[in-house]
Amino acid sequence: MTVLDALVEIQREQDPTLAFRYSCRVGMCGSCAVVINGRERWACRTLLASLKTEAVTVRPLYHFPLIRDLVVDMAPFAAKMKAAGAVFVAKEGEEAFAPIGRNVKERRQIDGAIECIGCGACLSACTMVGWNEQYAGPAALNRAFTLMADSRDGAGAERWPLLLSEDALVRCHGQANCTEVCPMELSPTDSILKLRRKSIFQLVRSAHRLDTSGATVVA
Ligand code: SF4
Repeated sequence: MTVLDALVEIQREQDPTLAFRYSCRVGMCGSCAVVINGRERWACRTLLASLKTEAVTVRPLYHFPLIRDLVVDMAPFAAKMKAAGAVFVAKEGEEAFAPIGRNVKERRQIDGAIECIGCGACLSACTMVGWNEQYAGPAALNRAFTLMADSRDGAGAERWPLLLSEDALVRCHGQANCTEVCPMELSPTDSILKLRRKSIFQLVRSAHRLDTSGATVVA
């Protein structure tokens, strides 16, 4: 029996007003993400027996506005994606949907980061989002990382100022809570580190451009 089965049972037998969100029931949609026994998990993929505790606590995701019971408002999650520029913009003349071979270098670079299904578990686990709700958070930065490596994407120049702002890459303290809880076994921490490395090249390039144009470069 999973935690989701238990919630359905409680709703049917004890409290028909209990609100919780789920859709696929098989770990595909991520909509049943909640905090179970203090850790972010999908209710449909968590067996009660695996928790090995007599009582099980279930609470809504942290750092999201609460709608009711276990249901949170996912709108801020989408807003963070936009704020970090984590939205695909096709280059002029490029097809938005184009097959990219599984073994090409471009794909291999981001292979470990593309399976995000937007469940929000990482955002809930991120203590930096807890401190600063403007911070874009792990899922948005992970998505931005995949876009920055995507040759079809044409928004890199507009995305860098967003990523280099006060509330993006610089805010991550590398605690890796996101990576620890991600049910898809992604590592947003790793994506953020790689994006930071790229950002150094970007900053050096911009400084060089300033320098050659005769402007003063402050090191
Ligand atoms: S990175 Fe993982 S935990 Fe975060 S939203 Fe995507 S699938 Fe969920």
